[in-house]
Amino acid sequence: MDGVCSKGLHEPIFTGNEKKYLLNCIDSTYVSSVGEYVTKFEQYLRDYTGVKNVIAVVNGTSALHMSLIVAGVERDDEVLIPSLSFVATANAVSYLGAHPHFVESNEESLGIDFDKLYVYLQNSTEFSGGHCINKKTRRRIRAIVPMHTFGHIGDMDACLKLANDYKLIMIEDAAEALGSYQSGKHAGTFGEIGILSFNGNKIITTGSGGAILTNSNELAKKARHISTTAKISHPWLYEHDEIGYNYRMSNINAALGCAQLENIDLFIKAKYEILKEYQNALKQFGYGKLYLASDGNRSNYWLQALILDKKFSIYRDTAIQFSHQLGWNSRPVWKLLHKLKPYQASQAMELAVAEELEGRIINLPSSPTKDFLIKCQKK
Ligand SMILES: *Cc1c(COP(=O)(O)O)cnc(C)c1O
Repeated sequence: MDGVCSKGLHEPIFTGNEKKYLLNCIDSTYVSSVGEYVTKFEQYLRDYTGVKNVIAVVNGTSALHMSLIVAGVERDDEVLIPSLSFVATANAVSYLGAHPHFVESNEESLGIDFDKLYVYLQNSTEFSGGHCINKKTRRRIRAIVPMHTFGHIGDMDACLKLANDYKLIMIEDAAEALGSYQSGKHAGTFGEIGILSFNGNKIITTGSGGAILTNSNELAKKARHISTTAKISHPWLYEHDEIGYNYRMSNINAALGCAQLENIDLFIKAKYEILKEYQNALKQFGYGKLYLASDGNRSNYWLQALILDKKFSIYRDTAIQFSHQLGWNSRPVWKLLHKLKPYQASQAMELAVAEELEGRIINLPSSPTKDFLIKCQKK
């Protein structure tokens, strides 16, 4: 494995125009939320994902927060999210005074099990006033947030059908899935609105950053407005027409993002090389298998995942400990959200598969070494 993959779980790599753009940024004095790199970065992302509108913001969490608001989620609504996700998905829902409602995972996709969820909603909800109501809490279930685990997209047709049948808004947490496609369509562009993250450990980084993706001009306009303090455009007046947020990405972060995005194809190519290396290294491994994306998906393979066989989940921690002794920073998957202190009392369906997966998933170091990337660059 030495030479291709670095030993940290995921590290940023800068081999392109990062320094040049950052220096331009400083020389121009436009380092804050106004500047040409923000506009450019949004344009690059539109071109790359094929979505109509992109709003660059300070991180993926704020992108989720804004998306939920503009899509129409309100205080006391419930939002369906997978328990197997990063905490940001649940936190963004909580920021609105809405409630996460945790749903089951699918072993093949690592995303939501839409079949089981469909049956669960049939039994536990009813329609009233055109809305899906949780019979137990009497609260409105307003939205569903599929999350593309490690960059792999779940069955989006099934998600769209479920969202349509139960009158749910679909907001995609594609934080991990820049560069992932299903049936030729980019992650984050299947529902009304979707988000990306460019945190330091994602496939490209802006230091800290995120983006809102939507084909709706109306949602885009709203999102842009409330993420820039809801200021009415005027050369000198401070006029704000609602409570806004200061969430716009800065020019410095966007400069980094432009340089990183120029190399996205290279990053993804390296991901496939890393996958190949692991496949070779684990050929004789008798305790589980490397996760492979299902048919119809062209995944970015952001994080490689080793899935232990059910009977070997007892060895998860030993395996992680062993890899750390060898200097390789492998990790267990996130602790399930419904087990975290702030979410223990939340609504949840049966989560047997998610609980099983929690014990079986080991994320392996997944970023290329700088040397390897430079070598690819020269080819
Ligand atoms: C990284 C991530 C986020 C949040 O992104 P930040 O930029 O760190 O705020 C949200 N959801 C998922 C699934 C993530 O992996």
